Amino acid sequence: ESAPETLPFQAEVSRLIDIVANALYAKREVFLRELVSNASDACDRLRYAALTQAELLAGDAELAVDLQPDSAAATLTVIDNGIGMNRDDLVSNLGTIARSGTARFLEELGEKKGDVDLIGQFGVGFYSAFMVADRVVVETRKAGEAQGWRWESDGRSGFTLTESDSAPARGTRIELHLKEDAREFLEAQRLRQIVQTYSDHLAVPVRLRGEGEPERLNAEGALWTRPKSEITEEQYKEFYHHVAHAFDEPWGWLHFKAEGVMEYAGLLYVPGTAPWDLFDPQRRHGVKLYVKRVFIAEGVESLVPSYLRFLRGVIDSEDLPLNVSRETLQHSPVLGRMKSALVKRVLGELESRAEKDPADYERFWEIFGAVLKEGLYEDAGQRDKLLTLARFRSTKSEGWTSLADYIARMRPGQEKIYVITGDDIEALRRSPQLEGFAAKGIEVLLLTDPIDDFWLSAAGEYEGKGFQSVTRAGADLDTIEAEASDEEEKDEQESLEGSELATLVAWLKTALGETVKDVRASKRLTSSPVCLVADDGDMDLHLARILRHSQR
Ligand code: ADP
Ligand code: MG
Repeated sequence: ESAPETLPFQAEVSRLIDIVANALYAKREVFLRELVSNASDACDRLRYAALTQAELLAGDAELAVDLQPDSAAATLTVIDNGIGMNRDDLVSNLGTIARSGTARFLEELGEKKGDVDLIGQFGVGFYSAFMVADRVVVETRKAGEAQGWRWESDGRSGFTLTESDSAPARGTRIELHLKEDAREFLEAQRLRQIVQTYSDHLAVPVRLRGEGEPERLNAEGALWTRPKSEITEEQYKEFYHHVAHAFDEPWGWLHFKAEGVMEYAGLLYVPGTAPWDLFDPQRRHGVKLYVKRVFIAEGVESLVPSYLRFLRGVIDSEDLPLNVSRETLQHSPVLGRMKSALVKRVLGELESRAEKDPADYERFWEIFGAVLKEGLYEDAGQRDKLLTLARFRSTKSEGWTSLADYIARMRPGQEKIYVITGDDIEALRRSPQLEGFAAKGIEVLLLTDPIDDFWLSAAGEYEGKGFQSVTRAGADLDTIEAEASDEEEKDEQESLEGSELATLVAWLKTALGETVKDVRASKRLTSSPVCLVADDGDMDLHLARILRHSQR
């Protein structure tokens, strides 16, 4: 064995450990949830690696997580035969803040000093071990590698790394030297209760090592295979925390089983807050794909379209072969069929939640509407359904409105759904282009997501009504009946037309020259003297601005 090498913790890690180690946090038991969750992930990742390298599983294919209390030594050891870690993994995973939740925890803690409840809310991952232990020893060997490693720390200055011959043949053993006041975590009954509270849903067996045969602590069978009636709300939520690596309350979940042509089960969640990496192309989490209860892969695009990328949870297929390769995953017709079935199910569920509780649905829309709208141009087949689900800000409502409600409020003679796009809702409300519409009592939808310009050009129509940008020349208001109270204003405006106006327009054309395509008199204005519009065949003004920005 080599001489130990001492490495410092990243400054944030030291700060984090200092906080969790000294926190008077009533639910210290969550450390076990974190370590068991990591061990279960390590087993999943080994399965995934074995898709292309079957030999990684050789000799030890029964994956499990074991807890081993030792009263004499006052240690609790968490053991898994999953993927394991090599030296680089140890340095980057157990010495820095690799995990988003942890980073967020530190951020929030900065604002609300001393609010230790946040530990439970965010989950501080591996470092939560220091809530109960004053020394942690990790011995680990990565699947397929010969060299084992020992990582050790008292949670103060840093950690030591040593080559280890006593590391498990494959996987990780985490030995916690329990603090004086944390000896309760040696008791079998306490461990049983913690695993049943937080880890009961795991597919991998979590076992207690004692005198005789190891005792399985979590329920047989993954959570999603159990009948709904046997699953408590708490269990659904704990499972969400584990699969999503999130600590918020899910907005909702959908647990289903398909039988017949295709056989699969699914448990999908919509988070209650936006995952931090929602717009990060390198995001790590998504829906997990299982085949007959065996983890295969996560975030498979051929299973979940990117406009539903906020979904978390699992899909478990009975039809795919267990030895499915990564190649097959990309082109599998079975996945393709599951994907469309899943999209239908999820959109259907959203629709029924929108009907049942509109206010609650709006909470969902505020968080994920911008992502869902990507489907409007990506998935033409679902466009109508997505337009039904979409909610908009408008000149006639403070809150959200659906297209159906908009259409119900249309003026006699109005054929189009009028929209305006921009970056800022308040600026849009003040836009001079809206004046003529306001004068006639015509409602205009105010769109502020960057995605809006893109789907609008693809969307065509909804319930026979086309979308029309008010910044286009063709937005002709003459055929639409005004609201009675506005007639007067209209007359006043018309009285301004005449030869004087023609002279003004001619003069403006000369003065502005090449900088504009045309100058026209318009009825869309009531109090502002001028506004910019795009010609009918030309690009929408806001879209043009977005594209100009992206070229810089
Ligand atoms: P998270 O699980 O959200 O990534 P953690 O702090 O719980 O964050 O763990 C940090 C990282 O350490 C994990 O992402 C993983 O790469 C590594 N790790 C922790 N425990 C294990 C383990 N038992 N086996 C393999 N890798 C592990
Ligand atoms: Mg973790």
